[in-house]
Amino acid sequence: MCGIVGYIGKREAAPLLLAGLHRLEYRGYDSAGIALQNGGMPYLKQKGSVGDLQKTYEASPAKMLGATIGIGHTRWATHGDPSDRNSHPHLNADGDIAIIHNGIIENYSLVKQELQAEGYVFQSDTDSEVLVQLIDRIWKSDASLSLEAVVRAALRHVEGAYGLCAISLRDPGKIVVARKGSPLVIGIGEGEYFIASDAAPIVEHTNRVVYLSDGEMAVITRSGYQVRTIENVAMEKDVVELDFSLEKIEKGGYEHFMLKEIFEQPAVMHDVMRGRVRSDEGRVVLGGIEDYLDRLKQAKRIVICACGTSWHAGLIGEYLIEDFARIPVEVDYASEFRYRNPIIGPDDVVIVISQSGETADTLAALRAAKEKGAMVMGICNVVGSTIARETMCGIYTHAGPEVGVASTKAFTAQVIVLYMLALALSKGRTISHDEMRLSLRELSRVPEHASRILELDRQIQEIAASYKDARNFLYLGRGYNFPVALEGALKLKEISYIHAEGYPAAEMKHGPIALIDEDMPVVVIATRDSSYNKILSNIEEVRSRKGRVIAIASEGDAEVARLADHVIYIPQASAQIMPLLTVIPLQLLSYHIATLRGCNVDRPRNLAKSVTVE
Ligand code: GLU
Repeated sequence: MCGIVGYIGKREAAPLLLAGLHRLEYRGYDSAGIALQNGGMPYLKQKGSVGDLQKTYEASPAKMLGATIGIGHTRWATHGDPSDRNSHPHLNADGDIAIIHNGIIENYSLVKQELQAEGYVFQSDTDSEVLVQLIDRIWKSDASLSLEAVVRAALRHVEGAYGLCAISLRDPGKIVVARKGSPLVIGIGEGEYFIASDAAPIVEHTNRVVYLSDGEMAVITRSGYQVRTIENVAMEKDVVELDFSLEKIEKGGYEHFMLKEIFEQPAVMHDVMRGRVRSDEGRVVLGGIEDYLDRLKQAKRIVICACGTSWHAGLIGEYLIEDFARIPVEVDYASEFRYRNPIIGPDDVVIVISQSGETADTLAALRAAKEKGAMVMGICNVVGSTIARETMCGIYTHAGPEVGVASTKAFTAQVIVLYMLALALSKGRTISHDEMRLSLRELSRVPEHASRILELDRQIQEIAASYKDARNFLYLGRGYNFPVALEGALKLKEISYIHAEGYPAAEMKHGPIALIDEDMPVVVIATRDSSYNKILSNIEEVRSRKGRVIAIASEGDAEVARLADHVIYIPQASAQIMPLLTVIPLQLLSYHIATLRGCNVDRPRNLAKSVTVE
């Protein structure tokens, strides 16, 4: 959840660490800090953004000079409020050991009490601090141990999840890292090494990386690195070549990452389909599941597990797979699935969806499903991520790095993957060759439609200006557009902090209609499909209670214009394709409302990208 960086080499570490933290700030941003090793162990840590930390550093860089080893952290608080003293790094009382930690130490309270009974005084309210105090205690009992040995011993006492980096003056010239549940990547440069939670801070220095797996540790010195399991078994790790460039993780002239990512969608849609959609041949080629396709087709049931926006994509996946492939599908929140003793067996296929491929609850759902003998398949964006590695087969979304915390392009990429999967599962079973070609041709036209919708940006901005002060919003849709209504509402609340709810339009009369008055804007997705007439009636119901209606409608539809206060027209397509189009104006609407309210859309309060806590 938070961001971790580390550097060891010949260059000044502090500026490199700060630059790395900037790149990782989307992962957590309530506080930040760095610790370095020169003759001593200078550190800086404070509440606030990496920019604030940078200013403090620039005001007096002298004590950090000459350090070519260091670690840095941006925090997303789980234990203890965001404050200077709870920021990482955490140091022992002698100030010669420093650690940064991502994750949660679940038994910290017990360990802390034991240490306090022995006289240890804690400086913070975090769970993480027990790690440094434990290391200190173990080292005091045996001064001959190496840093890796004391870290290893400390980890034996803790339960929970960690991405951990440690440095110490007692065993200088090295960084020790460990991973369980929180991602860590080592970047290999020329006589220098980088450590980070993901590849974003590394790619400008080197494209050669090693991904640590759960249960692994590494010792990194200027002359090399060594990976071992936490139980101390040596490991050979593959060096992976990163395939994305710096430009992909920069804003490229847009004011925010989120806006850039919304506008990237037509290009991303092409990337997702490239080499996979063969409309003329009437087939879909999905290399990552090819060997498992027959088994997938024979599934008695498919269960999709995900969280947040990916869960909404999953709901659309349910409609698509049931519609095209006629296989029963259930969609579950990963967090509910894993804790509710689900009925799952070898005849079931569990599909997990996660942009980062690190989402803790989704990962746990995957592991639970595997344990029960189900076949598990993944849909992830981050190549080489934990979920990608632990599933038996899967499909990458190829959306490129998504930095904005509110997911946009990853969502549309997930829906395209699910559409392709549904068709692959239908082939030779439930749809004819001609239907297949037609459906693929429709899909191929989506990027062009998306580009046209993006041209409506100015109009949507004007609508946003009229509603920026609203306190509540309702989003309604039916059929394929119901999950889009949920996604529209989620997007608005996460970045503008306006309360918003999504509902299947027909459900309105069972409760939410009570909320409607002249202060309640209602976004209605009213494109032409089999429930079009029904949704027009829903608009009438809203209007007769003085609600204000923003409609998303099919081009040329004059009827909706007569009823709604605002209409955003989008190209007409089949119902199955519609979610890919109707979601785009909703992304733009949320973006503009949030920016007009002065919110930081790339880093909304209390949220973080890549939710690696459970
Ligand atoms: N649990 C730790 C804390 O609250 C680490 C949180 C994080 O991953 O940023 O400080």
